[in-house]
Amino acid sequence: MNSQDVTSNATKDEPVENLNVLTSTQLVIKDALNKLGYGDEMFELLKEPLRVLTVRIPVRMDDGTVRVFTGYRAQHNDAVGPTKGGIRFHPEVTEDEVKALAVWMSIKCGIANLPYGGGKGGIICDPREMSFRETERLCRGYVRAISQIVGPTKDIPAPDVFTNSQSMAWMMDEYSRIREFDAPGFITGKPLVLGGSYGRESSTARGVAIAIEEAAKVKGIELKDARVVVQGFGNAGGYLAKFMHDAGAKVVGISDAYGGLHDPNGLDIEYLLDRRDSFGTVTKLYKNTITNQELLELDCDILVPAAIENQITARNANDIKAKIVVEAANGPTTNEATKILSDRGILLVPDVVANAGGVIVSYFEWVQNNQGFYWSAEEVDARLQKIMSGSFHSVYETAKLRKIDMRLAAYMVGTRRMAEACQLRGWV
Ligand code: GLU
Repeated sequence: MNSQDVTSNATKDEPVENLNVLTSTQLVIKDALNKLGYGDEMFELLKEPLRVLTVRIPVRMDDGTVRVFTGYRAQHNDAVGPTKGGIRFHPEVTEDEVKALAVWMSIKCGIANLPYGGGKGGIICDPREMSFRETERLCRGYVRAISQIVGPTKDIPAPDVFTNSQSMAWMMDEYSRIREFDAPGFITGKPLVLGGSYGRESSTARGVAIAIEEAAKVKGIELKDARVVVQGFGNAGGYLAKFMHDAGAKVVGISDAYGGLHDPNGLDIEYLLDRRDSFGTVTKLYKNTITNQELLELDCDILVPAAIENQITARNANDIKAKIVVEAANGPTTNEATKILSDRGILLVPDVVANAGGVIVSYFEWVQNNQGFYWSAEEVDARLQKIMSGSFHSVYETAKLRKIDMRLAAYMVGTRRMAEACQLRGWV
């Protein structure tokens, strides 16, 4: 959702800012590798995915016509292990976006020390305008198109924006039919009865909540009574708002793709979750809404962008009032904005640290599938807690020691093991 035509948000009087998520990420990778003592060859290898497959998927629509959808699967680097990452369904998916998302998955897995490289998939489509059966046919068609390059020990997909456990179930069924054996470890984020894991559905938000707890501790903020704003009310944002509410924080703002709701006394999160549709839309039911930009600038202690890319930019970074920004979405803050927030003393916990809970519990799901022995919800949560707080502190300490922002520190921690594995394999 890296707006295809827009590479900058500059107006006449403002400086140009790069909004291409791939090239922006490459700048940070270059910096991180330099700081780790690696040269140009390592950067050349890691700056984009080793493989990107573009597919065209014909789907018979309910009205009898055929529509052909374009999809991608990108595999960034498999030096450490098979590639891993979700599949996004969205009208604004682009190849560069999918590539950047695959790179971010590598860094995320590196920080959490999971035995994976990064992968990502995307299909240009709008599932909000498709029927249940059309979506099923698209899921199955996509798996047929990418089946040669994926598999439980090759590349393991998962949910992302606008895909869910039902999409994973269809995809797993299609893959198992093609291969003619039951292959639960081909994909994660499945329903429980099909080999899913306890805690996977809420895992991204649970991980974000752990990152918020750690960030609040270092900033000396009491979570109880802290004012929280959450942009996005889908899987991550919805569960997170609930977790914050349950922790005693006051959720003073939430939003969906169409607008936001604000109440300085705290919103009734349970009620809103009850009213939202399966795509996380709820504000359409209300008259007094605010814009997403207004939402980001609300007076609060903790701001959680949990929607899409390029939301906090050079344009609004000076107007952010939160003391902590925790990125539940992938890529919500631009490089320029990261610098502005950091100069203003705002603690920004980057996506590759904050939202890793999803892939961490996906890893647990894959391990359980491979061993055929399943864990309790308590065991999953205890293991997630340990990895998330460990990741937060290794990145936070690196940032403090090197006097750099947490994003650059995260890229240093996240690329170190991958670069070493490439070197040991003799690739560089
Ligand atoms: N789509 C999620 C992410 O961006 C989860 C990926 C996974 O579970 O493999 O981290």
